[in-house]
Amino acid sequence: MLKHNHLFIDGAMTIAQGEDELPVTDSFTEEVFARYRSASREDVQEAVAAARRAFTGWSNTPLNERIAAVRGVAAALSVHSEVLASAISREVGMPCKLSARIQVGAPIAAWESYAELAADVDWETRVGHSLVQKVPVGVVACITPWNYPLHQITGKIVPALLAGCTVVLKPSEIAPTSAFMLAEAIHKAGLPPGVFNLVHGSGPDVGETLISHPDVDMISFTGSTHAGRHIASVAGRDIKRLALELGGKSAALVLPGADLSLAVKATMASCMLNSGQTCSSMTRLLVQRSMLHEVEQLAKELLAGYRMGDPADAGTRLGPLVSKMQQQKVQAMIEAALAQGAQTIESYQPVPDRGFFVPATVLSEVSPDMTIANEEVFGPVLSIICYDDVENGIELANGTEYGLAGAVWGPPDEATLSVARRIRAGQVDINGAPFNPAAPFGGFKKSGIGRENGKDGIEEFLETVAIQLPAKFFELSSL
Ligand code: NAD
Repeated sequence: MLKHNHLFIDGAMTIAQGEDELPVTDSFTEEVFARYRSASREDVQEAVAAARRAFTGWSNTPLNERIAAVRGVAAALSVHSEVLASAISREVGMPCKLSARIQVGAPIAAWESYAELAADVDWETRVGHSLVQKVPVGVVACITPWNYPLHQITGKIVPALLAGCTVVLKPSEIAPTSAFMLAEAIHKAGLPPGVFNLVHGSGPDVGETLISHPDVDMISFTGSTHAGRHIASVAGRDIKRLALELGGKSAALVLPGADLSLAVKATMASCMLNSGQTCSSMTRLLVQRSMLHEVEQLAKELLAGYRMGDPADAGTRLGPLVSKMQQQKVQAMIEAALAQGAQTIESYQPVPDRGFFVPATVLSEVSPDMTIANEEVFGPVLSIICYDDVENGIELANGTEYGLAGAVWGPPDEATLSVARRIRAGQVDINGAPFNPAAPFGGFKKSGIGRENGKDGIEEFLETVAIQLPAKFFELSSL
């Protein structure tokens, strides 16, 4: 059993003073493998005070030095890639070979992508006789979830630091290992004290203390829409800047003339990735009724490939869910969908005798009014829904209270592009085009507020100032 008692505050590993020891469970063995002591109220206050003290120095540090510091942290972190990947697999359940690429490789590459894009931000521009400047927001509280722990932390910490903000991170209590390894890398890379601080604890306790702190200027939150709604109310009360990355119910819309085989394969891969615990997963497959039989056949064949097992085994395609609670919630949602008239596409997969598994599930005959067609499942469950004509398909794609991502499958022509342009979601892929870390990502409606990734991700942490200049000032050399 690993015991962690420290936090990272003001450039040093400090002893956590909280009373709770929060367990971290291996999602395959179902055993608690680590306990992390939580921060006390005073620890959180010290972390915010350290971030506040560091702000003037860090925000005035030249951009090229901030970029170099970010690259130094990424280099120190990448040394531990393998350990990170296996720790995240244990916590979350993603097969190790996928974890190495997706949970660790991709976020470390994102550190570099942000560092490259920082110079492209319009830090200072002229608008008539005004000087328009972008300046850091201040002290940022970053609150992150468990499903892609390092990726979610990266999407906040790196752009915030490049923007010149200082941060206090409270990672998910369910998957904290990568946050602590990041603190060690930051320590090693020698970031100035107080620029990055890490506190640990549960959301309603430590998270709440952090976001309510009067000296926090901005809250950047990724997690459930339920918690996001509460966090928005706290930000609203104190008029704090707010960025929210919340849930999704994304649709893949398959147009007539699309490559059905590719569309079904890619949609299932998106839906089942990380056992469905991905906010931007395609969880609805929208097809015309005339395509349904072929789509069901394709799904049935593909289901056979989703072999469950130990995440450490190279042959495992589908790992366990993160927790017993998540497993039970997903099972209950499948039962409710069946009771409402959905049908499962039969496929037998042996379920390991331990681990929080739910087999890959494809439901057909799902109607748009069913709960399963509207609510986030966060498990390996794909709903096939039939549309009448393309107009109706677009309406269904846009017809939930979410708007995080979407996919359109169709011939490579203007008609397909014009359908993609009408999807009301922050990121839309056509015919399986790959993820682009330099492109903005975020949600419409209840999927959130603001954008992460790319230049937009950095601008999220900037305020705009317009300085009006009398004519004489235009002669100054710094202009
Ligand atoms: P969650 O909302 O339960 O917890 C997220 C974080 O918020 C945790 O660190 C938690 O401790 C903290 N928290 C909870 N209540 C809080 C409070 N009152 N004050 C301060 N902090 C609080 O979410 P989760 O179960 O960890 O993650 C899964 C959810 O995250 C899913 O809904 C998923 O769609 C969403 N998500 C969204 C994105 C995105 O980019 N849009 C990415 C990943 C996950």
